[in-house]
Amino acid sequence: MRLAGKVALVSGAARGMGAEEAKMFALEGARVVLGDVLDDTGEQIAAEIRNRGGNATYVHLDVRRDSEWGEAVKVAEKEFGKLNILVNNAGIAGYSRGDADSLEDFDRFHEINSRGTYLGIRAAIPAMRRAGGGSIVNISSISGLIGQQHIHAGYNASKGAVRIMTKSIALQYAADSIRVNSVHPGPIQTDMTKEVWSDPERRRRTEQVTPLGRYGQPSDVASAVLFLASDEAAFITGAELVVDGGFTAQ
Ligand code: NAD
Repeated sequence: MRLAGKVALVSGAARGMGAEEAKMFALEGARVVLGDVLDDTGEQIAAEIRNRGGNATYVHLDVRRDSEWGEAVKVAEKEFGKLNILVNNAGIAGYSRGDADSLEDFDRFHEINSRGTYLGIRAAIPAMRRAGGGSIVNISSISGLIGQQHIHAGYNASKGAVRIMTKSIALQYAADSIRVNSVHPGPIQTDMTKEVWSDPERRRRTEQVTPLGRYGQPSDVASAVLFLASDEAAFITGAELVVDGGFTAQ
């Protein structure tokens, strides 16, 4: 098993890619702490993992709250003995609607997507030092790499911030054997993008501009995150892994 003996914390793990990552990690032998603000569904995912013989526990974790990050890391160390892996997956997105794009939304994207990621990193580093090292995977987006006419610019900016903070933190903690990488999904079929993929015409347009000709599935991204989280990526830090069906290759 690729994560045997590891303890992981995944934010935004109640649904979508985060839930898939938590499940895949558990199947690969990790003990997993799932954090989210959707407590009922988060508890359900953790129970599903346990029912299949895995080790998982759910904690309420609003990534905007420093104290809740502290609590989540404490749960990992108390229940499972240590923390080796953090996936900063929780995030929110928004489309551009022209002049109606609000400053409130801009601030929310930054508060959750980029500041929330930074709080997670700050909470995890001391525990990873105690564990002798670790792997942090920050979920950015292709929106952190390219401009997009139909996306709220604040979302692009928040994901660009995740990309570049990943590289600074990677440099700052390499001596502690803590690796830090970013993952950049393209269009993935989750609740976040339902507005587009549930509309046949908009779905077709997205598929048309994606070289592999389809939406990505949460498992496509979870596989990449699993690789970076595992010791298979032992010499990889400060890197960005694009999972977009070729979208940004054009
Ligand atoms: P999703 O909406 O299905 O899941 C996001 C999860 O984050 C939800 O469970 C939600 O409750 C949680 N969350 C939101 N705000 C939170 C907060 N303040 N504290 C804790 N949890 C919070 O979305 P998804 O598609 O699975 O997205 C996962 C990540 O991937 C996000 O960071 C997103 O920006 C990124 N991403 C998504 C796509 C895509 O096409 N779906 C593409 C690129 C990047």
